[in-house]
Amino acid sequence: MIRYPVTRAALTAAVDRHAPTWSRRAKRRQTLITKAGAYGEKKSIWSEIKPALTDFQKNKCGYCERKLEAPEYGAIEWDIEHFRPKSAVAPLPDPLQYPHIALNGPGGGGGSGYYWLAYDVENYLGACKICNTIMKGTLFPVAGTRCVAPGTPAQLAGERAYLCHPLNPSDADPQDLITFDGVLAIPAHASGFDRARADLIISLFRLNDREELVNERARQIVLFGGYFEKHHRGDRSPRIAEILNFADNPGIPHASCVRAHARMWADDPGRAREIWALCEKMTFSL
Ligand SMILES: [Zn+2]
Repeated sequence: MIRYPVTRAALTAAVDRHAPTWSRRAKRRQTLITKAGAYGEKKSIWSEIKPALTDFQKNKCGYCERKLEAPEYGAIEWDIEHFRPKSAVAPLPDPLQYPHIALNGPGGGGGSGYYWLAYDVENYLGACKICNTIMKGTLFPVAGTRCVAPGTPAQLAGERAYLCHPLNPSDADPQDLITFDGVLAIPAHASGFDRARADLIISLFRLNDREELVNERARQIVLFGGYFEKHHRGDRSPRIAEILNFADNPGIPHASCVRAHARMWADDPGRAREIWALCEKMTFSL
């Protein structure tokens, strides 16, 4: 995961640009839903604003960092994901796989949904169908007390959500929670809540168990490996600087993994070279 911090004002402006009447219609719908105290629409309208989110997210899934098709054809590959589920929240299906989570915590399991956020643009992010439909569904584990009625931003923050919202400037930077050892996502912290968040995100989205996802990361490391090597050997030419700068671009697929690998070339070039060789093997033995 990588961060794309966006303010509510910027998000709303982008939505208005792509779908000028959406905000007004969404507000009307939200008023009815909030009055009813539950989400029960037969047909929604949030798909209309996909392009606003895909722009901010550089056409990448907010959770797994896969690059999806450009907006012209890509909308079909995307879901607008409700970070906080609009309907009932499902309990974790297999809590034992999350050893660092306080399972007895009041909000760890399921609960009622966040119906009052169904049309809140700050509750949206673009996600691939694998991450949204298969992996996350209506899961939303929290370590604190779950809000069951319209809450203030402070009350929502007090829920201590395990998942991380990549567009929310107030949430943690995902790269401070999760880093990479080669192609494998690993927690950036050894213990504490940040460790628990990383464990849950890695497990819930199966970031290390999806073959094509891991292979894509390997291909990214292969793509830049030769340039990292040249830089390590002292090549300071403008071309190498330009390419390494590109490797740090948040718009490339799996930028978080590539950045971690770049840091490894600085800290432990021997291991970085080993990983590069391993990734080459993975890439050319498909
Ligand atoms: Zn995804």
